[in-house]
Amino acid sequence: MASTTQLKLNTGASIPALGFGTWQDKDAQEEAVYLAIKNGYRHIDTARVYGTEPAVAAGIKKAGVPREELFLVTKLWNNSHDPKSVEKALDASLKDLDTDYVDLYLMHWPSPFKDGDDLFPKEGDKTLPGDADYVDTYKAMEECVKKGKAKAIGVSNFSKAEMERLLKETSTVPAAHQLECHPWLQQAAFDAWHKEKGIHVTQYSPFGNQNAIYSKGENLGKLIEDPTLVAIGKKYGKSGAQVALAWGIAHGRSVIPKSKTEHRIKQNLEGDFHLEAEDVKKIDSLDKKLRFNDPSGSFGGWNFYTDLDGKA
Ligand code: NAD
Repeated sequence: MASTTQLKLNTGASIPALGFGTWQDKDAQEEAVYLAIKNGYRHIDTARVYGTEPAVAAGIKKAGVPREELFLVTKLWNNSHDPKSVEKALDASLKDLDTDYVDLYLMHWPSPFKDGDDLFPKEGDKTLPGDADYVDTYKAMEECVKKGKAKAIGVSNFSKAEMERLLKETSTVPAAHQLECHPWLQQAAFDAWHKEKGIHVTQYSPFGNQNAIYSKGENLGKLIEDPTLVAIGKKYGKSGAQVALAWGIAHGRSVIPKSKTEHRIKQNLEGDFHLEAEDVKKIDSLDKKLRFNDPSGSFGGWNFYTDLDGKA
């Protein structure tokens, strides 16, 4: 097994710096997760809304790795923010993941939808908002830790003001914040704020506009082909994609690239390598404050990231 860099959460637990994303390509995820684990990944990221929890479970089973060797992350979806729905939602995820606990349970977004079975409750083409306050939702997640169903809890896609309110009004400092971060959206000040508070940052979409769904990035060229990343890669015998991953890890963050292709799955794992400080610095200068994932307006009218970089 390849040994990957381990980072520490504020719970004392270790999180492998190189994780595996499973959003999209639902039908390919069982094999992809199997290949990922076979090749050495031990941190798998899924979410209720991806519909990939059963495939993740099947991939893990096929790989035959003991549960305690894995760091498994899933996320609470917006339709289950009502405090009385939270544990039920986690139970459903645990059932699909075929496990008794997750290593990290994240609130996927701060924005509640109308509570119920429908993942996207709609009236016409509008997604209906719910009335649960994310602070109360988070308090219900704290109860899941007490019951041993989640080893740690955290959030995803919160603004700074939302984070500050959470810290002020609840008693568990989030173990992690999963957010969009890559060399074109570095969020250096927000990252430093997390370090100061002891909150681990996981970078999603670590390849920026490589995710085909991000139409905003269509005419910008590919982040992973950025000449600086490619030139730095030449020095180490690595690709631009691998350099983008190593840069996140050099900053103490975990990265969760997604791929369903074995050679890329392997290649991405080899993005866990040491970059010299001068190269990290060069990549630090590439920030374009370019955010690709902002569903503001379409998620029950919520306006995300209002105080963060890359807000259009
Ligand atoms: P990503 O940055 O991981 O890019 C994925 C795409 O890049 C793949 O579909 C593939 O086409 C391509 N790719 C993968 N490896 C490559 C390589 N070595 N060379 C060239 N191209 C390569 O994008 P992502 O899927 O958006 O993000 C990763 C994971 O983060 C997701 O799968 C999901 O688990 C998580 N995520 C979470 C949120 C959230 O709201 N919390 C949002 C987006 C993604």
